[in-house]
Amino acid sequence: MDLADKKEMLIRNLIEEGYLKSPGVISAFREIPREGFVGDSWRDYAYSDQPLDIGSGQTISAPHMVAIMTELIKPEKSHLVLEIGAGSGYQAAILSRLVKKVYSIELEHELAGLARENLKRAGIRNVEVIQGDGSLGIPGKSPFDRIVVTCGSDKVYPAWREQAREGGIILSPVDEGDHQRLMILRKGKGGFSAKKGLSCVFVPLRH
Ligand code: SAH
Repeated sequence: MDLADKKEMLIRNLIEEGYLKSPGVISAFREIPREGFVGDSWRDYAYSDQPLDIGSGQTISAPHMVAIMTELIKPEKSHLVLEIGAGSGYQAAILSRLVKKVYSIELEHELAGLARENLKRAGIRNVEVIQGDGSLGIPGKSPFDRIVVTCGSDKVYPAWREQAREGGIILSPVDEGDHQRLMILRKGKGGFSAKKGLSCVFVPLRH
């Protein structure tokens, strides 16, 4: 089976399994070539539903996890999004098709470079990758409509709460014993409301 067939089969499975739901998110999955965000040696596995090694001990998330995260934040064309953990740049690439602009922070210098290269090769212009510690957010670019954390965090950092727009959503895996729990926070007038999502395992947030 060639890559195009594998891609279509993965997308159909993700729809059947209920991970991919909205037409916009499904189109984004069709448009973005995941093979351009995994190393050459993983090319044949680009459309298997699993995380893959991207170097520096980090991974590109499994497609179903990217689908879950993307659907949960309900992206809109007008949105300014902050991602913590650019990694390969794939999640940011998916979001780039659905929102106005994505700022993605990556702690590892090498991965920030890799994400920039991958995004450039894919012709994506509305994602800016910044090297730094994402737990601090980017005060100068806030407020963000959505903040998506793609590493396992010990908590929802105060900077994210401050930099979220009123009415905005913060989505973060937060430590819960040996795994994490996806936490969905919505910023209201009087404070945050929080909902618990799935249990998950991301590589840990570091400083
Ligand atoms: N979203 C990525 C997957 C991210 S894996 C993708 O689509 O490929 C998690 C990433 O978070 C790793 O690259 C790791 O280096 C990064 N990371 C860990 N702690 C961080 C921090 N404090 N700030 C920014 N990035 C961090």
